[in-house]
Amino acid sequence: MRQLISFLLLLLIISCKSSAKKESKTITITSDDVKASVAYLASDELKGRDTGSEGIEKAANYLEEQLKSFGVKPYFETYRDDFLVGDTKAFNVVGIIEGNDEKLKNEVVIIGAHYDHIGKSKTVEGDSIANGANDNAAGTSAVLAIAKYFSAKKNNKRSMMFVLFSAEEKGLLGSKHLAKKLKEQDIDLYTMVNFEMIGVPFKDRDYVAFATGYDLSNMALKINEYLGHNFMGSSEIAKKYNLFRQSDNYAFYKEFELPSHTISSCDLSNYDYYHHVDDEAEKLDYEHMASLINSVIPAIEKMSNTDTKEIVMYEE
Ligand SMILES: [Zn+2]
Repeated sequence: MRQLISFLLLLLIISCKSSAKKESKTITITSDDVKASVAYLASDELKGRDTGSEGIEKAANYLEEQLKSFGVKPYFETYRDDFLVGDTKAFNVVGIIEGNDEKLKNEVVIIGAHYDHIGKSKTVEGDSIANGANDNAAGTSAVLAIAKYFSAKKNNKRSMMFVLFSAEEKGLLGSKHLAKKLKEQDIDLYTMVNFEMIGVPFKDRDYVAFATGYDLSNMALKINEYLGHNFMGSSEIAKKYNLFRQSDNYAFYKEFELPSHTISSCDLSNYDYYHHVDDEAEKLDYEHMASLINSVIPAIEKMSNTDTKEIVMYEE
């Protein structure tokens, strides 16, 4: 009997080992993964995630639980990076996966998205909650998915910081606060990749997503080179509205003068519900989102592992 038990135990160990091995080879983000986080963050229960609201407190708790469940460590003493908006308490949520290379782990790649929204908007048919599904539960779910991926793989030589920003809608206040703080800490930032409004696909482009500030650095071209296909492009509409300055990447660009861009698949030409009460979870295309995230991950993997900092600003 004892022999049988130890034999079974051995079998169990072997099968666990082989399945762990398998898992570390392919980790695919499913549409259900992203749908689950968007469905919660953009639910009426969170009332539009306005900075200082009860809803955003719930959102932050959820994000912390998610990061913790993946095994992502808090970057500061806790996951929260507190700041004030006037008298209102606000907080970014910040996690870190340390790099596995003695030298390169001192260099940091930031993957970010804002998780706040505007709370309420103009009432339509009795609905006044601006749920902010595309803007930006979508980007937030991408950051969670990428954090989940790297915490399972642990194959990043550089350290990866995952940031969910608050008070973006109040004027990039969360990112301004954190960028300044990290600059003061003198971190060796390599690049900042921000996700916004990836919830719907383009139908009329030869690329999947655009980078804001496309012409300022070689990031978009490097991503295409790393992936071996035309994933990133330049949006004329994004350029016209200067979307580069409209999201949290801009605070990092201003503070560090390093490649900091937002990746997005919506430049307002392909979605009618920007800051509208109908920006709801059921309006998004989760197959598209999962596919976008799974497509971009190998490029981020490459960013976190190249011997040198290949992504650079263009000379002025
Ligand atoms: Zn946004």
